[in-house]
Amino acid sequence: MKVFCVLWVLCGMSLSAFALDREAFTFTKYDLQIQLEPEQSRLGARGKITLRNDSAQPQKIAVLQISSSLGWRSIQADGKTLQFVSQPFASDIDHTGALSEAIITLPAQVKPEDSIELEVAYEGTIPLDSTRLTQIGVPEVIARHASWDQITPSFTAVRGVGYVAWYPISTESADFTEGNSMFQVANRWKRREASSEMNISACSSDDQTPPDAVLMGDRSPGVRGGSGGGSDHHPQQKFLCVLHRFEPAGIDAPTFAFAKFKKQTAGGSPLVTVHSLDNHDSGATTYLIAASPSAKFVTEWFGSPTTPIAIADLADPHAAPFESGMLLLTSMEVVDPKLAQINLTHELVHSAFLSPRPWIYEGLAHFAEAVYREKQDGRQAALMLLGVHRAAFVDPEKAVAGAPQKNPGEPLSATFDEIYYRSKAAYVWWMLRDMIGEASLKQAIHNYRPADDKDPKYMEQLLTAASKRDLGWFFDDWVYHDRGLPDLHVQSVHPWKNENGTQIITVTFENLGSAGAEVPYTVRFDDGEITRRIEIRAKSTATTRIELPGAPLEVIINDGSVPETEMGNNAFRIVER
Ligand SMILES: [Zn+2]
Repeated sequence: MKVFCVLWVLCGMSLSAFALDREAFTFTKYDLQIQLEPEQSRLGARGKITLRNDSAQPQKIAVLQISSSLGWRSIQADGKTLQFVSQPFASDIDHTGALSEAIITLPAQVKPEDSIELEVAYEGTIPLDSTRLTQIGVPEVIARHASWDQITPSFTAVRGVGYVAWYPISTESADFTEGNSMFQVANRWKRREASSEMNISACSSDDQTPPDAVLMGDRSPGVRGGSGGGSDHHPQQKFLCVLHRFEPAGIDAPTFAFAKFKKQTAGGSPLVTVHSLDNHDSGATTYLIAASPSAKFVTEWFGSPTTPIAIADLADPHAAPFESGMLLLTSMEVVDPKLAQINLTHELVHSAFLSPRPWIYEGLAHFAEAVYREKQDGRQAALMLLGVHRAAFVDPEKAVAGAPQKNPGEPLSATFDEIYYRSKAAYVWWMLRDMIGEASLKQAIHNYRPADDKDPKYMEQLLTAASKRDLGWFFDDWVYHDRGLPDLHVQSVHPWKNENGTQIITVTFENLGSAGAEVPYTVRFDDGEITRRIEIRAKSTATTRIELPGAPLEVIINDGSVPETEMGNNAFRIVER
């Protein structure tokens, strides 16, 4: 009998594990009240979540996951308490490397496309925790600069999905040690949440943590008012709340920060607010001064910034900066004025320009950083900034080019993967500017209306109309498909003189990659150099002829403005005969 029971339990477990589809539901709406108690490192939350069954099967079980340092208090539907099993679930999507998972038996099956509203309550602490990094061998001292999320009496900053599951999610296990697993899980979540809505009321009953001092990166002005219900600890107590609204919540990873910040506005306008910690006045001033030139630049390209943005200080001077919506978290201990202008430019682009497509929304903000960098110190400085982005996506793109069947890659037009919609997109916009010119690109941006962006080809149409150029091949290779990157080199150079004695060279370039590009090339000769541009389609060659005022020395293809898989084969020295 005992053997039977054990077998029965095992069978039962494997059956339930088999039936559990953690990514069946999309969380379409959150209405959560959160209360921070920094003195206890504590967060308490309660509210409603709407889950829509986006799978093909009816679902009787729902899964809700929060950080493993938080615990479930209650889960209800229609005012009735639901049965749930709470268990730890190993996943690197949270900084602790684990989630508190509630496996809930729903009152009835939820059919495909139907929704159910759950009322939830959970609470716990959010201490600094770098377990998910240290357990894969990252030294503690480095891991802490990346995993800086925490609630403490002196400083609080907590990022959302991918860092801390401070609001309920539901994902398959993410594992840092298994290739891209962690990023794939997070990207799938972002994609599912792309048009979700999140309303967070920051609530408080005391003066220590006033709710309007809790920073969040939403686009709403932070509507004050309403009183929250009581918490489990203080059922009778009334709370003052400030409402924050993320819409959509998808790529923003809703984040909050709270500390004894000194709050200052740039030029007395609420557009740019700088929140700094003690002894960081100089860094804060650098940001305040940078606001005006950055805003002027952004206005020229994207129209007037309108949504207020906030820059907030991080307690750890080596902490990696992070943006969530309209909030940038970055240390102000030491601030380079040029970097401050570039950071503000990025955020102000978001303030001025909206798009539902990540490659347009984030890609243009990163592109604007590079254009501003060019304004500061010239094209080479801008290309160096872009080079940092290239390092992020060159290996994934090599994998795509090497085995497209196994690694189909991510078309920019549909991606929710940061390295594509930030880094690769920044280059795509830069190449487009080089190809069609600044005036045409600005015109297309000015004509863009997010509400009209229903078709992935909408942006191409605006650019084509503004530039009168056929960009179909470029969008096919870079935006609608992921074909990897070009690999350009000089195939042959033939110097000769015509009957008048003029020095001429005939150059053939080859693109070994599967993405075409229009690319600059430079011919160096005795007393100078000539730079021109040439279009070289995928797996093709292109030949050109150039008249030179002196003897040719070297031909160089690509100044770094086109991201390639291989940048070491771009120069060709011409040997004298
Ligand atoms: Zn951004």
